[in-house]
Amino acid sequence: MSSAKNTNTQVVVIGAGPGGYAAAFRAADLGKQVTLIDLDKNPGGVCLYRGCIPSKALLHVAKILNESKEAADFGVDFKPPKIDLDKMRAWKNDVVGKMTGGLGELCKRRNINFIQGRAQFKDSNTLDVERVDGGKETVTFENAILATGSKPARIPSLWIDSPRMMDSTGALEIADIPKSLLVVGGGYIGLELGTVYASLGTEVTVVEMTAGLLPGADRDLVKILAARANKIFKSVLLETRVVEIAEKAKKLHVKFHEKDGNEVEQSFDKVLMSVGRTPNSKNLGLENTKVKVNDKGFVEVDINRRTADPAIFAIGDIAGEPMLAHKGSHEGLVAAEVIAGHKAAFEPLAIPAVVFTDPEIAWCGLTETQAKEAGRKVEVARFPWGASGRATTLGRNDGVTKIIADPETERILGLAIAGSGAGELISEGVLAIEMGAVVSDVKLTIHPHPTLSETVMESAELFFGQCTHLYRPKKS
Ligand code: FAD
Repeated sequence: MSSAKNTNTQVVVIGAGPGGYAAAFRAADLGKQVTLIDLDKNPGGVCLYRGCIPSKALLHVAKILNESKEAADFGVDFKPPKIDLDKMRAWKNDVVGKMTGGLGELCKRRNINFIQGRAQFKDSNTLDVERVDGGKETVTFENAILATGSKPARIPSLWIDSPRMMDSTGALEIADIPKSLLVVGGGYIGLELGTVYASLGTEVTVVEMTAGLLPGADRDLVKILAARANKIFKSVLLETRVVEIAEKAKKLHVKFHEKDGNEVEQSFDKVLMSVGRTPNSKNLGLENTKVKVNDKGFVEVDINRRTADPAIFAIGDIAGEPMLAHKGSHEGLVAAEVIAGHKAAFEPLAIPAVVFTDPEIAWCGLTETQAKEAGRKVEVARFPWGASGRATTLGRNDGVTKIIADPETERILGLAIAGSGAGELISEGVLAIEMGAVVSDVKLTIHPHPTLSETVMESAELFFGQCTHLYRPKKS
């Protein structure tokens, strides 16, 4: 009979996504002896294997395909592209392999003990690990960092076990290019993956229960995206609920309940269910510790990311919204530093959010929607990209940059952008907010010409009444 191997470590990190590996690396850099546990062969988690990275690799392909179609407007007519799906999939997998392999290497160089397996708490200082190779291991620790992330949510009454039914993980496999695809959910994951399939030639329908795409995002930004979404997608059904999905004759037959009470039926080759994500807080043995989980399944943490159990920290998707990779990484650094005895806390003023659709949508800090909901008075300066030289050279005047500021102090509270490359531009707003910048700081900062970053400067100018490339008649 084989006995369980015993490992003793100062810090154990459970889950090697962007939260977990960042925490493990920082703890090791700060001199701690670290063990990192994950089910995959290398660190990376959902972000690298099944999320951010593969989706952005495929969105890059989508961008090339879409731009090649639009190049005719500039006098360059490409032949319809030939798509080699196996090669595309291999390229995406190669991107993932390179990055996760690199993280594995970084783990070794830091002398981190990486265990490939599933961990469960036995008590507040012990984990039982079932290794992927079939072996068992007991890990005793001084501190644990829980970073088990999240998984795609499913509506059980609608989910059917069929290769025609996909969640985001399945959709990223691009097993084929279906003739028709229904995306259930108008959130960012559904829209990003819908964009990929639409660019490959699939007729994509998006169905969303609420009155607009990207619930929670400012409507003026979404309006710009919706205008293009209506061209890229076959249709966008709003205020419509899916009530039944059944597989018949190699199709998925979907019943929709429309706003006016009508029930209609349509059939699709495939359905992608993207209705949010659920934290992985079950089956971890948390009941054997003092860790508290709230009614949404998130682990409760304080500003140091310490749970109700003094030995255990939690970071990333499992520790609450926003469920974004960069939020998890920063929490990971904080938890590792606190464990190493440093004074650190997770108190960001702005966490950027980026939707990598076409056009991209990005925001940080206070949104106009949040200001309205809180009854907070704000001043908003909006610079339309129709007046941007750079946007015109790209043939992409469909954009807006807006600064949200305190009318009394002129302090920048939020930045929001819809337009090509918005995800790259948003960091200027994050820095401004974190540095406590006022609008004139941005206005007086010389931005390079011709770039889209000038739209941030011009929106700051506009805050004071006029900007160079727009004329607003004075109110009499
Ligand atoms: P995860 O990345 O979820 O990793 C958790 C790890 O823990 C997993 O590897 C899991 O196998 C492991 N694990 C779970 N239970 C155990 C256990 N008991 N024992 C051992 N290991 C365990 N975010 C962005 O910021 N930008 C984007 O562009 C973006 N795009 C996305 C696109 C898609 C399609 C999806 C699905 C997500 C996207 N996200 C994006 C979200 C992002 O992937 C997550 O916010 C991020 O991965 C969360 O990181 P994490 O460290 O909390 O955990």
